[in-house]
Amino acid sequence: MFDCIVVGAGIAGATVARKLAEEKGRKVLVIERRSHIGGNCYDKPDDYGILIHEYGPHIFHTGDEGVRAFLSRFTEWYDFGHEVVAKVGDQLIPVPFNLNTLHMVYDRDKAERLEKKLIETYGEGSRVPIMQLRENEDADVREIAEYVYKNVFLYYTMKQWGQKPEEISPEVTGRVPVVISYDNRYFKDTYQSVPLHGFTPMFEQMLEHENIEVWLNTDCTDVLSFVDGKIYFQGEEFTGDLVYTGAIDELFDCRFGRLPYRSLDFQFEHLDVDSFQDHSVVNYTVSEDFTRITEFKFLTGQKDAKGTTIVREYPFAYTGAEGEIPYYAILEEKNEKLYDRYRALTENYPRFHLLGRLAEYKYYNIDAMCRKAMDLADALD
Ligand SMILES: Cc1cc2nc3c(=O)[nH]c(=O)nc-3n(C[C@H](O)[C@H](O)[C@H](O)COP(=O)(O)OP(=O)(O)OC[C@H]3O[C@@H](n4cnc5c(N)ncnc54)[C@H](O)[C@@H]3O)c2cc1C
Repeated sequence: MFDCIVVGAGIAGATVARKLAEEKGRKVLVIERRSHIGGNCYDKPDDYGILIHEYGPHIFHTGDEGVRAFLSRFTEWYDFGHEVVAKVGDQLIPVPFNLNTLHMVYDRDKAERLEKKLIETYGEGSRVPIMQLRENEDADVREIAEYVYKNVFLYYTMKQWGQKPEEISPEVTGRVPVVISYDNRYFKDTYQSVPLHGFTPMFEQMLEHENIEVWLNTDCTDVLSFVDGKIYFQGEEFTGDLVYTGAIDELFDCRFGRLPYRSLDFQFEHLDVDSFQDHSVVNYTVSEDFTRITEFKFLTGQKDAKGTTIVREYPFAYTGAEGEIPYYAILEEKNEKLYDRYRALTENYPRFHLLGRLAEYKYYNIDAMCRKAMDLADALD
């Protein structure tokens, strides 16, 4: 019945399924264990009619024309320049730290002096890692690096990754940028958008094809098994391509131990006010247990909606307990070695393809994931 099986209906699975169904005429079965499609990009209106992102705020940003063109077949866009601010004391300062931030945190004379020095030394428009600022002979310039480290980076990173200051790699710290421009946008990409009517309708369109069938509420381990280099689907040998976008350790019963992840607890709240913070995302970089608050109406373009819905994000260490979701792979050497042991188990299965943030134990943005899935579909005959 099917000549290709895709596990997972996130951006990786939906992209590969659509391309194989449409361009290669494959009969594709998509198996998804959740009750909905879209993976972590899934969004839905809440009880108050505000479109919320159930698994954290997602903004599609890309410079990849091919990816943008592919997804534009399934949605129109609400384009906007995504800006993030950090709450430091009583101020909301733009991040990454830029020339606007400089003028907010220093008095006028000092800010003007520093701006001149930064532009002369590094050039207007450049992104300078704080590591480089720290090497500057000028004490004032080094002070900017210290400001960014303490007020934008340190506490936020400790919360996000559950680390003590001494555990944070100096290499990661050094890469934190200062942007020598007045552009407050968080990303540099040409396109910065969300689907006009939401991510979920975009995924519905992607999966709406005569050659695609979607099974929701189905864990692939209930219908697939792997024995001696052969894959079985509902008890019968399956010889087509299998694209797996789930967690690789779970597929093999975590036999070598669980791959470590950071997870997030999302606490949603609806408020009977027009606006809570007047910004889509506010990072809490020096206070609070949560890392950031997202106010959805400023992200989705629903600015005139009545009331507002926000979400606070509390990071914690993923344990694999029921209901927990692995979000961020922890990219350390020992974890990557553990991943390699699991990957080696798949090498006996020639038409088995690992694709996606969980199957590859990597962080991908939506556009990079879509690109990887498009390339895989192109490569399969
Ligand atoms: C908090 C957060 C915010 C983010 N914000 C952005 C952003 O603003 N912009 C951006 O570009 N990227 C963002 N990302 C990254 C983005 O979420 C990923 O690029 C994208 O979700 C990866 O898609 P995927 O298909 O690999 O994985 P997923 O979206 O996780 O999809 C995998 C699917 O596989 C299913 N599955 C797993 N195991 C099984 C199984 N055994 N059987 C059946 N189904 C299974 C899962 O239920 C899931 O639906 C963010 C990530 C996080 C964690």
